[in-house]
Parts: sequence; C-alpha cells; structure tokens
Amino acid sequence: MICRLCPRGCGADRSLSPGFCGLGETMRIARIAPHYWEEPPVSGTRGTGAVFFSGCTLRCAYCQNGDISHRNAGRDFSVRELSDSLKRLTDLGVHTISFITATPFIPQLLSALELWRPPVPLVWNSSGYEAVPSLRMLEGVIDVYLPDLKHYSARMGQLCAKAPDYFEAASAAVQEMCRQTGTPVYSPDGIMLRGTLIRHLILPGLTGESMRLLTWVRDTLPSGTPVSLMRQYIPCNNVDIPGLTRRVTDREYERVRAHMAALELPGFLQEPDSADRDFVPVFNQPESFV
Ligand code: SF4
Repeated sequence: MICRLCPRGCGADRSLSPGFCGLGETMRIARIAPHYWEEPPVSGTRGTGAVFFSGCTLRCAYCQNGDISHRNAGRDFSVRELSDSLKRLTDLGVHTISFITATPFIPQLLSALELWRPPVPLVWNSSGYEAVPSLRMLEGVIDVYLPDLKHYSARMGQLCAKAPDYFEAASAAVQEMCRQTGTPVYSPDGIMLRGTLIRHLILPGLTGESMRLLTWVRDTLPSGTPVSLMRQYIPCNNVDIPGLTRRVTDREYERVRAHMAALELPGFLQEPDSADRDFVPVFNQPESFV
C-alpha cells in the first residue's frame, strides 16, 4: 500500500520499506494499560484504556516519549491481538479507550474495531499533525478527539519537527475534528462522550506562539471547545534546540494562562508539580501490556 496517511505524504510502500515514520505494515504498540493522567473528562477516576502506538509522524525533537516516537520501541500486534487486548482493557472498567499516535495504523485499527468495538467512548489522541482524508476514515468511529496544537509559526514547526507545514495541517485537522464531533457532550459524571478537546503545551521562551494559537482557537473553533493548557515541558530526548533546554517559568505560564482567561476559553490548567518525569509511563516491558 502506498502510504499517504499523514501530512508527510511520503508515498512509501510500507510493505517494502518504511517512510518518514519508520513503520512497516504490521501494527507496533509500546503499551496497552489503564492510564490515569489524561484530562478528567478522559481519565475520570478509573482511567482511560490507553493504547500507545509505536512511532510518530511528527517526532518533535523534545519528545518526552522518544523511545517510542523516535526509536519505535514496541512489539508487533496482529489485528486479532489488538482486539483481544481492547476487551481485556474494557473489562478493567476504564471510562474510555484512547488510541495514541495511531495515524500510521488507521486501516489496521479500523479492522480491529470491526472485530469488536468497546462500549465506551473512543478517544483519538494525536499530535494534531493529521491529514483530513485520514480523519474522514475515522468519522463515526471516534467519539472524542484529543489533538495537540503545538506550533504556530512555520519556523518553529521546522525547527522542532522538520514540519514547516505543522500549523497549516493541524489547523485544518482540528477544524475537521470539530466538524465531526460538534460541541462537547458529557456524561452526568463528567466523562466526555463526544467532542474535541485541544491540548497546548507551553514551550520556554515561546509564549507569543502560545497566545497566537489560543487566539486562533477562540476565533476559529466552535464556542465551548475546551483547551487543556499544559506547562509540564521538560527538556527530553537530548534536545539541543537553543531556548528549549530549560523548563517554563512561572512568569511565562502566568502570561499564557492570563491570555486564555481573557479569551474566556473553557478548559483545564495543569499544576506546576505535573512537570515530573514520574508521569512518563513504562513502555515495552512485560508489565506494559494487559
Ligand atoms: S504515516 Fe509514515 S509512511 Fe505514511 S505518509 Fe506518514 S510518515 Fe509517510
């Protein structure tokens, strides 16, 4: 199959050789387990059943999960094996099931969901670097989109991820996600049953980018679209981009938080103590898989 599933549009025949993402045709997964550290409407009290796919189409230089996003750590899964894992996850009582960076495996994932669809909301957790035709394959299947919105300028997209078209692609993608889901719908206990929740990670020295992105969200996306503003950036993956080798200061965070409040965007704020490596899950170990 010639692959153009993401905006890289490599055109690789992954049965023969991988494209930019380094992935073949067989699904590769680094962790399948309950996860408690997503936003409350996704994790609730019993967690989301998180499926962390290996590989990433964006590969940010500072990625916290470099072993899986850059180095594709994980193990191969058949469609049947994934379907069986989804049953085991659901039996643990999770509120939702989350597919994390699954874009290169959309056809295989859809096949697994045809075998068995979990009876809880399905969440698509991604970098936001998505191709609209690929998202249309997910219409009616995915209930909740949880995309990042990372970089506003082509310069930062290039510098951080060799993706100068990041904002062009991600802005079209999140508008498509909002079109599919409409404004958020919640269960009585606060779990998002349907909707799109935008995530934004503040980067050190780049509060201007953050503020432009938040203004774009307010001006473009449906009113009521929530934003999760994250400040837990830590320099990871031996990042050596000037300015990105430190954490975000309280003053930087406060500047962006105040802008979000002025825009009256609904959403979530992360506490300073969430900037901690303990929140990085264990990948590709025997205990990583239900
Ligand atoms: S999913 Fe991988 S192979 Fe396919 S277009 Fe994107 S980077 Fe290229």
